[in-house]
Amino acid sequence: MRRLPTRAFLPLLPMLAALAGPGGAQEPDPIPAGVAPPPGVYAPGVDVVHYDVEIGLGYGVLWFEGITEIEVAVTESGSILPLDFTGLAVDDVAIDGSSVDFEHTTGVLRIPLVDYAAGDTARVRVHYEGVPDDGLIIRENVHGEPSAFVDNWPNRTRFWLPSVDHPADKATVRYTVHAPVEWKVIANGHRSGDPAPTPSDAIGPQGDRRTWTWEVGVPISPYNMVIGAADLEVRTVGLAACGNAPASRREDGCVEVSYWVYPQDVDRAQSSFRRAADMVDHFTELVGPFPYEKLANVQSATRFGGMENASAIFYSERAIASGRNIEGTVSHEIAHQWFGDAVTEADWHHLWLSEGFATYFGAQYFEAADGVESFRARMEEARQRVVTSDDVSRPVVDPEEQDLFALLNDNNYPKGGWVLHMLRGQLGDEVFFEGIRRYYARHLHSAVLTEDFQAVMEEVSGEDLAWFFRQWIHEPGFPTFDVDWTWTPSPGSEEGTVEVTLRQSQPDAWPVFRVTADIEIRAGGRVARERIELDRRDVTITLGYVGPEPDEIVFDPDGWILKGDG
Ligand SMILES: [Zn+2]
Repeated sequence: MRRLPTRAFLPLLPMLAALAGPGGAQEPDPIPAGVAPPPGVYAPGVDVVHYDVEIGLGYGVLWFEGITEIEVAVTESGSILPLDFTGLAVDDVAIDGSSVDFEHTTGVLRIPLVDYAAGDTARVRVHYEGVPDDGLIIRENVHGEPSAFVDNWPNRTRFWLPSVDHPADKATVRYTVHAPVEWKVIANGHRSGDPAPTPSDAIGPQGDRRTWTWEVGVPISPYNMVIGAADLEVRTVGLAACGNAPASRREDGCVEVSYWVYPQDVDRAQSSFRRAADMVDHFTELVGPFPYEKLANVQSATRFGGMENASAIFYSERAIASGRNIEGTVSHEIAHQWFGDAVTEADWHHLWLSEGFATYFGAQYFEAADGVESFRARMEEARQRVVTSDDVSRPVVDPEEQDLFALLNDNNYPKGGWVLHMLRGQLGDEVFFEGIRRYYARHLHSAVLTEDFQAVMEEVSGEDLAWFFRQWIHEPGFPTFDVDWTWTPSPGSEEGTVEVTLRQSQPDAWPVFRVTADIEIRAGGRVARERIELDRRDVTITLGYVGPEPDEIVFDPDGWILKGDG
């Protein structure tokens, strides 16, 4: 996602009435969002394979009703299914059609799978209702009109959908949404039928409604599972990834790239999304096949600048309503479809595998589209964020952080992006991008740790990269180089040699960094380059250069190294 500098929440305006649901069951107090789960296997003995989600919404009504059927593969006999679920009333739980007893405390709905052995499949149906405390945001939009949008990151799915709410437990999803006739409904995946009049006995607030069905046929993480419902206008940007989108349901094998925005903002949104299909084509060619059925870009209630929900990206409604061009955010969120969505961090502490990658590839699109100077300007902006940040006194992977929202920091975003840039500089374009493609192909639709990425890059390069990942990911900081040089003429000659002294002057609490960098010697209009290796705090090197006195010596002239302003 894209962080916003300040979180601006719209107030709930009086026209939205919090009517009680028909069941009148007690809604338990919600648990806090964003607490890191304990280390280890999250929900042992069970693996969710599929969610069949039915949601009933009303126009300007704050409560909703849901029925979710969860298909669970049992991997250990006699397991308990611990569904994350909080703040809503549970009317009934049934397993394979029979109502069962359940326990619902402190945000977990515990359902014993007593008679199920390893290898069995259980179908667990949960019927629930209430006014969601979070996750499903039902409120007036920026134009004062009713809307309902899901916003899950990192673990707020549990506020509207009973789920194993952990990024590593991916599943396919089918959504059936009964929504007011005034609204269109968007969700992950492809639409599996035309909207039809809602039967009068359907769940949720009564009214003139239509029923929408969407299905995502490849597994996605719970934090990516979304629906959005509002008065939206749809515009097609174009087709992309043609012949390179295995999940496509279209005969031409392409994915449709579109944007869904409030009627008031159709013209304002155009400049932000005009290159969205080109972005999809770029990443498809650079990284690998587009992973989902379509790509919708949606104006929404997300609290973030953008949220990368698989195939249904949600953007800040205010950013779009302001008419600002948010192409940088669009490129970032589209890059997430590959990194974060299709290949997902198995542990939130490895968030750089999502945010660092989206920061880097989101910027890299502009290298291809607008030229290297546009890309370098974006990387320089990211560098300045790192070198002026307090966050970097902690390592990028920081398992001690228990507040998941605190992981949205300058380590996981700009420093994570720079780690990829430095790896590219270290290995060269050919090896680096080959490694990126192999990492994506190998871990598509699954969840990984930093070690898995390192292993692929070592395999492709044939190099031991433990030092690289240790110093940049598992240790804090960045180097700052003080560069000095002297030119010594040979006796009786106009030519001479250059001795360069480099001193790493970063704080002692940070490591001494090993880097490979270019040095450029500029002398009388001529330019020469040499590559040097540094791995000590103080290094003095005699260059191979023999020539006239240089006008200037430039360390790392193309900016491949993350470093402080020396
Ligand atoms: Zn992001």
